[in-house]
Amino acid sequence: MYKPTIAVVGRPNVGKSTLFNRIIGERKAIVEDTPGVTRDRLYATGDWLNYEFNVIDTGGIEIKDEPFQEQIKMQAEIAILEADVILMIVNGREGVTEDDLFVARILQKSKKPTVLMVNKVDNFEMRNEIYEFYQLGLGDPFPVSGSHGLGLGDALDAATDYFKDIEIEEEEDSSIKVSLVGRPNVGKSSLINAILGEDRVIVSDIAGTTRDAIDTHYTFDDDEYTLIDTAGMRKRGKVYENTEKYSVLRANRAIERSDVVLFVINGEEGIIEQDKRIAGIAHEAGRAVVIVVNKWDAVEKDEKTMQKFKEKIRQQFQFLDYAPIAFVSAKTKSRLTTIFPLVKIANDSHKKRVQSSTLNEVIVDSVSMNPTPTDKGGHRLNIFYGTQVSVGPPTFVLFVNDTELMHFSYRRYIENQLRGAFGFTGTPIHIISRTRN
Ligand code: GDP
Ligand code: GDP
Repeated sequence: MYKPTIAVVGRPNVGKSTLFNRIIGERKAIVEDTPGVTRDRLYATGDWLNYEFNVIDTGGIEIKDEPFQEQIKMQAEIAILEADVILMIVNGREGVTEDDLFVARILQKSKKPTVLMVNKVDNFEMRNEIYEFYQLGLGDPFPVSGSHGLGLGDALDAATDYFKDIEIEEEEDSSIKVSLVGRPNVGKSSLINAILGEDRVIVSDIAGTTRDAIDTHYTFDDDEYTLIDTAGMRKRGKVYENTEKYSVLRANRAIERSDVVLFVINGEEGIIEQDKRIAGIAHEAGRAVVIVVNKWDAVEKDEKTMQKFKEKIRQQFQFLDYAPIAFVSAKTKSRLTTIFPLVKIANDSHKKRVQSSTLNEVIVDSVSMNPTPTDKGGHRLNIFYGTQVSVGPPTFVLFVNDTELMHFSYRRYIENQLRGAFGFTGTPIHIISRTRN
């Protein structure tokens, strides 16, 4: 189902990141932390009542060496491009400023649904301070206090109310969603063009939104695919694309909508830190991943080069050990046809369900081959039974006597046994242990 997006905008110091953190709350991923990935706090998931949505803090996106007004203008424009609803934040202690008016005018022109939050209204007596904000022309101001967590409910009610209009128009589509992510210049656009070739015909706007995201439909071996937001990638101004935080945000958003992520790296230049970060996002989002090494034409090769490069990838991206690797060239079109068979395998794995009886046979066999660990007091982990609770990615719950006894290394062992038995090429799998009373 479509997950709407809220963006937080406003001039510096009004409390955007404080409110952002309030809205997303304390969130712990079920997967263990991916080594080498610093968590980006510009983009996260939030929820309110029955709604789940993405939240963007535009305050963290900067273009270096641009004047102040350019910065807040860019942030407002990115919010307009990316979000369904905007939260405009102002400071109730300072009143309306020129910069508030400047941002408000940009938002007004866009006609994006906007909710005006007057922050730093920390106590009841201050509520009268909000009336002057009517002059921003963004409707009723909502008094809130980010640091005390006050007033957020009413403002979020107003924001999520706008979601009702979006959902009705969203159409169902059973195609496999695929995105290409990777740092700038690895060849994502070239790959898209090379894959689609002359067949590039059907382009459709996403129903019900005014975002300029454009998806392309693609058929391979009778399977329908949607390549996400690839034309949009080039349509947007290069200025914004080149700010690193924005390109990571774009990757985040594309990954979010994908079943399978094509993680593109540059065979000619090899692997750098930024690659790891993007790969980490794909892994943590629980999407299926295929690694595409592009520009293979530009690499001087002998019969060992490919194997060596594979080993380097396995070493650098240990958390992606399940992802198959394709070596291609967008320029010469060599080996391009190897990509989509791997996408198909990864997608099938991502949606695979295994039978409970077979699953439990594998668990029993695994335990008999490699006994469960004990703690210092001699208590031994006992796995009573396992069950698959969901797909996309496959997620298993193991009921045990004591979750504390389920060590990372034993979980990893079970994961490898499940992979050995069922495949799961191209997809992460999640294993959760629960204490059975
Ligand atoms: P941003 O630059 O818009 O992201 O603003 P921050 O979230 O970094 O907040 C700027 C400053 O305002 C920080 O010192 C916050 O502690 C403070 N602040 C944020 N929300 C509130 C609030 O509701 N009341 C008060 N009194 N201070 C706040
Ligand atoms: P993007 O920023 O990831 O979309 O990368 P582009 O598709 O714009 O490509 C960046 C540069 O790499 C361009 O100059 C391309 O011509 C070049 N390029 C793309 N694919 C290949 C390839 O397979 N081989 C070689 N040698 N160059 C490529």
